[in-house]
Amino acid sequence: MTDKEQKLVKSKVAIARHYLPVEERLKNFEEVNLGYLDLEEVIRECERCHQCFKNSDPKIKPPPCMKYCPTHCNSREIIRNVLDNKIEEALKIIYKHYPFPRSVERVCPGYCQLHCTAGIKGDPIQIPMIKRFLVDNYSPLEDYFKCKPDLGKKVAILGSGPLGLTVAFYLRKYGIKVTIFEKHDIIGGMLTTEIPEFRLPRAVLNKEIENLQHCGIEIITNKSVDKDFGMDQIFDLGYHVIVIGIGAQKAKSLKIPDKDPIIVIQALTFLKKHNLEKGTPNLKNKKVVVIGGGSTATDAARVAKRLGADVSILYRREKEHMPAGTVEIEDTENEGIHIEFLIKPKEFYCTEDKSQGVVCQKIELGDIDASGRPTPIPIDDFEIKVEADYIIEAIGQDIDLSGFDTHKFNISKSNTFIVNEKFFTNVPKVLAGGDCVLGSKSVVDAVAHGKIIADQIYDFLK
Ligand SMILES: Cc1cc2nc3c(=O)[nH]c(=O)nc-3n(C[C@H](O)[C@H](O)[C@H](O)COP(=O)(O)OP(=O)(O)OC[C@H]3O[C@@H](n4cnc5c(N)ncnc54)[C@H](O)[C@@H]3O)c2cc1C
Repeated sequence: MTDKEQKLVKSKVAIARHYLPVEERLKNFEEVNLGYLDLEEVIRECERCHQCFKNSDPKIKPPPCMKYCPTHCNSREIIRNVLDNKIEEALKIIYKHYPFPRSVERVCPGYCQLHCTAGIKGDPIQIPMIKRFLVDNYSPLEDYFKCKPDLGKKVAILGSGPLGLTVAFYLRKYGIKVTIFEKHDIIGGMLTTEIPEFRLPRAVLNKEIENLQHCGIEIITNKSVDKDFGMDQIFDLGYHVIVIGIGAQKAKSLKIPDKDPIIVIQALTFLKKHNLEKGTPNLKNKKVVVIGGGSTATDAARVAKRLGADVSILYRREKEHMPAGTVEIEDTENEGIHIEFLIKPKEFYCTEDKSQGVVCQKIELGDIDASGRPTPIPIDDFEIKVEADYIIEAIGQDIDLSGFDTHKFNISKSNTFIVNEKFFTNVPKVLAGGDCVLGSKSVVDAVAHGKIIADQIYDFLK
């Protein structure tokens, strides 16, 4: 075994997946999930594929992995090509659906894998990991970044997250000029500013964003609708269509009054600060309590742990209801982070003997609510205290609609842009997609929207 291989450990939930050992991980921010080590492992995994409905036309009867993927990527065919040693064909399918697949496959929730029929009586095929191995180890095909001749049209995109980048890339391929207006001085949306490096190394992401920019995408940072211009002014600049991809970047708050000296911070702020100013804040020997159950909560907890804190997560339902992925939850627990279930913060406390933290209510679960999960109901007179120096709130995100005329746009009750099946809003020549339409969802959903939006704009403008 090589030195590198000796460092690796296998996960309990997956076969032949390699992880950095926990003691290594906690010392730094290096990538935790190392995927497959060689093609032999990938082929062994591909050989377990059932090749569902292989004799049917996938457009009429798609295999579940294709049907449930928001991009409808035909993973069955990718696997078939790997088994037939046609790696180039497999890559063609991947790049047809994802402009930055090395990043996407690292964070993809894997709807394909969740619906894989091999999972009915055993372990599902690890499809995102197979695709990740292929794109990590083989270069994109030569003509991938080629663009059609200029069509004489230009499109403005608001936001440089997965949605904005995907729309921009496919429009450039159609020969349409694009300008992305990005509110911040950093490109990539949540991929860059929030998702931690140990799940998505910046070298991987930055290289893919750089590749996309080679196609001639213009990106203007520090420009946003709310502070710099209105939608009408963008049309006045000669853009034919506007795409809104501003994400769900406004953190929800528990609205519990602060209590000095307990520090309360939003997970998005905490992660952004850490990602942009490496190594901050110093949490050595601090007690950190994270509130929430999604990826944002597990990411914030794992970052805090690496910054030296003693971390726990409080979640108001049970483990199976946590929106974070199974592997993320397993990684979080393996890294020594305790998750307390069926508990909800009520108020912060601070006593004279310098004990401080959060008073929590125990929860019992009631009927299924609109989210499809049981309603958390606080149990009267059943309170417990959890000590904390630092509270990180990770209870969800809203869309920040500042600068948009909410009387002009059709906006849903949950504050998202309402679009038709072609992603057009009710305002002429304005489309929207990604998190600002779905609410906080996933990268692959934003990428799927981006491809459809680019196709729609091309049809509309040509
Ligand atoms: C901590 C964390 C972990 C996550 N982990 C995962 C994961 O493992 N897997 C997964 O699939 N998804 C994950 N997600 C969700 C995923 O990141 C989002 O679903 C995805 O980034 C949405 O893409 P988007 O382009 O719609 O929005 P965003 O990525 O939010 O990008 C929106 C962009 O628009 C810019 N913007 C905002 N307002 C304006 C304006 N008025 N004008 C111009 N620009 C503006 C923002 O600065 C940002 O760059 C995670 C999210 C978080 C917060």
